[in-house]
Amino acid sequence: MRAAIGVDLGGTKIAAGLVGDDGGVIARASAPTPAQQGPAAVLGVVADLARGLVESAPGGVRPVGVGVGSAGVIAPGIGTVVSATDALPGWAGTRVRDELVLALGLPVGVVNDVHAHALGESNAGAGAGHGTVLMIAAGTGVGGALVVDGRVHTGRLGVSGHFGHLPVPEAGDRACSCGRSGHLEAVASGPAICADYRVRSGDATVVDGREVVRRAEAGDADAEASLVFAGTALGRVVGGLVNALDPDVVIVGGGLAAAGELWWSAMRRADAAERMAVLADTPLVTARLGGDAAIIGAASLVLFDQPDVQEQP
Ligand SMILES: [Zn+2]
Repeated sequence: MRAAIGVDLGGTKIAAGLVGDDGGVIARASAPTPAQQGPAAVLGVVADLARGLVESAPGGVRPVGVGVGSAGVIAPGIGTVVSATDALPGWAGTRVRDELVLALGLPVGVVNDVHAHALGESNAGAGAGHGTVLMIAAGTGVGGALVVDGRVHTGRLGVSGHFGHLPVPEAGDRACSCGRSGHLEAVASGPAICADYRVRSGDATVVDGREVVRRAEAGDADAEASLVFAGTALGRVVGGLVNALDPDVVIVGGGLAAAGELWWSAMRRADAAERMAVLADTPLVTARLGGDAAIIGAASLVLFDQPDVQEQP
């Protein structure tokens, strides 16, 4: 069986898997990201994890390359980090693809981690069998991707899919993580829900969106209002994107997909209200692969001859 190593490279953890061409994860390995030690140390851990999985691959399983879904904006075609957050100091400018080709002697493909997540869900998860897949992930941030015929639309600079930075009326003039204001992420991300709840309830002891979800489940009216507010804003953008892109299916994932029925129903209601009548029956489904999505999607870069794979240094 052909297989590839898929790597999900985040600011705190690097998760890798040996993925078969049927999309199944055959073996896994992970390690903390040595972010403070710099890019060379981070790439060293990625290479070690990949080597370990290649060497321990079961008989009959043939790893043909390594796909990486990396935090940060990744330049299409060259696999270099264009920009990254403070979670990975010095990461911007790192030639991830070329360095890993040198270290491993295998073909390497690199995309942004959100793009990898969407590729996984599209090709082997909730979007399998569909041509045009719109993925939206809401959690610490809000983002996603458009995948067409198994390939992610990266855009000119690799930035495509920043749906959290679409304007929504709910956001008013609230400050967004991008430095602008009035964007979806400023009301619909986990941290935004937490901030909204603090204002509504006057309780500043709450530190994350998960706690707001727990309080909503316990019947806290302010927590419920924050989740409905966030879900409504997200649904509005989902409906707008369906109008703009006419996908075959919409997948919603990320940490907030576990926020419960109140959030889901608010999101679905707002989505339905925004859609043009002809698009009313475009299905909206929940992501299926959980934490494996980015690993499987990254592996699909090399398994299915995607662009952006470098064979030789
Ligand atoms: Zn923004």
